[in-house]
Amino acid sequence: MRLGRSLAIGVALGLGWMGPAAAEIYRFQILQLNDVYEITPVQGGRSGGLARVATLLKQLKAENPQTWSMLAGDYLSPSALGTAKVNGDRLAGQQMVAVLNAMGLDLATFGNHEFDISEAQLRQRLQEQKFALVTGNVLDAQGRLFPNTQTDYQFQVQATDCQKPVCPPLKVSVLGVTIDSNQAPYVRYGDPLKTLQQQIQQRQSNTDLFIGLTHLNLSQDQQLARSLPALDLILGGHEHENIQQWVGDDFTPIFKADANARTVYVHRLTYDSDRRDLQISSQLVPITPVIPEDPTTAAVVQTWLEKGFTGFRAQGFDPSAIVGRTTEPLDGLESSVRNESTALTRLIAKSYLRAVPTAELAIYNSGAIRIDDVLPSGPISQYDVIRMLPFGGAIASVEMRGELLQRVLEQGLKNRGSGGFLQTDGVQRSDRGWQIQGQPLRPDRWYRVAIADYLLTGQEKGLGFLTEQNPGLRSLQRGQDVRFAVIAQLQAQR
Ligand SMILES: [Zn+2]
Repeated sequence: MRLGRSLAIGVALGLGWMGPAAAEIYRFQILQLNDVYEITPVQGGRSGGLARVATLLKQLKAENPQTWSMLAGDYLSPSALGTAKVNGDRLAGQQMVAVLNAMGLDLATFGNHEFDISEAQLRQRLQEQKFALVTGNVLDAQGRLFPNTQTDYQFQVQATDCQKPVCPPLKVSVLGVTIDSNQAPYVRYGDPLKTLQQQIQQRQSNTDLFIGLTHLNLSQDQQLARSLPALDLILGGHEHENIQQWVGDDFTPIFKADANARTVYVHRLTYDSDRRDLQISSQLVPITPVIPEDPTTAAVVQTWLEKGFTGFRAQGFDPSAIVGRTTEPLDGLESSVRNESTALTRLIAKSYLRAVPTAELAIYNSGAIRIDDVLPSGPISQYDVIRMLPFGGAIASVEMRGELLQRVLEQGLKNRGSGGFLQTDGVQRSDRGWQIQGQPLRPDRWYRVAIADYLLTGQEKGLGFLTEQNPGLRSLQRGQDVRFAVIAQLQAQR
């Protein structure tokens, strides 16, 4: 927006706004979601679900046809269903694109997790998308735009109150930028702030409102809000928990909804072009069973769920089979499992010990847990287990010298907050140091350990020394996939 604007923000509902006489008033709406990994509801069906979001979108369009839906990144990965192999390749977000197409999404930007999948898979997804993808700072390795992506997305809003002979349409420009975490070698990342600065400069003479559709951490969004007075609104993602803040001298609003469409934001915008005054009334809408599913979108969800389940069956799973019950909620939220032990992490650790009966202790990386959800008490299906550990991996049995074991455990603690935080069973830490099965850890002793095979690759944070070549390891054997071990543990608990 150009000179002399003032920005007034009405929070939540009920701020009717009356324009002055002979004005041009533009009313439009945006449905915002971000960080959506599951096409189905989460939390045992209590929350989320894109077929419900589709219904809300239809309702908003009935209320005001000038409604746009935007997704602020992270939708192709990681998800359990995306790991299912169909026709020889993982789905890798194909299910999500199909559902977002059915829902009628208008626009997305890249999240960092879009680059978890291979370049060929990403290019394929971009071909399948019926919605636009706007990106400013993310290019392919040759510095070109990925196919079917664009540097900006312009749309026009017609005046809803026009008391002049002519009311030209309002020109809104949406620009997209993405954080450079989980860098992929096939992607070139530019600086988000510099990119937006440049893009705004180029478009300023021909744009009334600028919206940033971003996938950045909050401090980066705050920096954009402070540094770019022309930016009117930031719709962000990446944080997984809902946020609203007003930042900078001109109080640029930043909004993020909860991951997995547990909530979405509905923004109702009113622009008075004489006063250059933008009012934003924003409502965080919980997506719950109260909202009926849109039948068309629900049918597409069901189709892809079935395709994915067929793929899992070919891998030896029976996804819909109930394998046990849990009497307490199983907390698999990333913010929990990367910092502490929960009923879910203990269940997995117990499964390691069951798989290696001679083991005195179990160790695995919390980053293997990708469900980022709490399973309520009640029945647990094999698909729930796949959701916990979508990438699976073998359980290894190995003898480890105490000295090395101590070093591994210490590093696991240092990794708190990341996926390298280690979850264990048979291990305690007290003021007197590490205890294994209640006995002080002895550096000169050998311990039989059930451990995630992945940890023996040296690829975990700070654990580069932990490879098969380390002389502190011997008698290595690889066993079954951890998901089958968890299924066996749940069946045994019945
Ligand atoms: Zn992200």
